[in-house]
Amino acid sequence: MDEADVIKILEDHGAVIRNSHIVYTSGRHGGVYINKDAIYPDTRAVSTLCAPIAKHFANAGIQVVAGPAVGGVILSQWVAHHLTVLGSEALAVYAEKDEAGSFSFRRGYGAIVAQKRVLVVEDVVTTGASLREVIRAVRSVGGVVVGAAALCNRGAVTAGEIGNPPEFFSLTSFSFESWDEEACPLCRQGIRVNTDVGKGREFLRGKEGG
Ligand SMILES: [Zn+2]
Repeated sequence: MDEADVIKILEDHGAVIRNSHIVYTSGRHGGVYINKDAIYPDTRAVSTLCAPIAKHFANAGIQVVAGPAVGGVILSQWVAHHLTVLGSEALAVYAEKDEAGSFSFRRGYGAIVAQKRVLVVEDVVTTGASLREVIRAVRSVGGVVVGAAALCNRGAVTAGEIGNPPEFFSLTSFSFESWDEEACPLCRQGIRVNTDVGKGREFLRGKEGG
């Protein structure tokens, strides 16, 4: 599967929103958004996207696949499933965000990760913060991070920025322009902010409040 195949699957599911006015989680603005949540209901599409990740790490001796809740719950399941089918038996767990915003393993999953060879997975990587946090969480319970993988590295995030896993593999590196609010040409043109995805709704509410 090459990048074009991945983008086609995303587009076929309406997961690539173009010609819009988006406010990203980072606070920056842009015209394009990857709505990964549009993929998850289609298990066949998720399976198709996770298979090449598993294939890539099939000989890496992965014992556990871990991802950040919420998207990472689904991805870790499918990647672990494909690894197991390929003969590299792997379990799937996920880390959850606490009140302070950092990820940790609950539900007894820390014990599953301890001393194991772990692949960390994420859907869309923008700043790398979630991957970095889950990698930290794996190491904090004694797991060995063997690699990290993403469906889409849209922020040109490097392995160094997420805690130096030995390998950082992503299916596609779809990237597009974004701007600070002050420099946003879409704001200047008075284009309506998309309130369905990203942080558009919060952004407009902040404007009203201010
Ligand atoms: Zn704008």
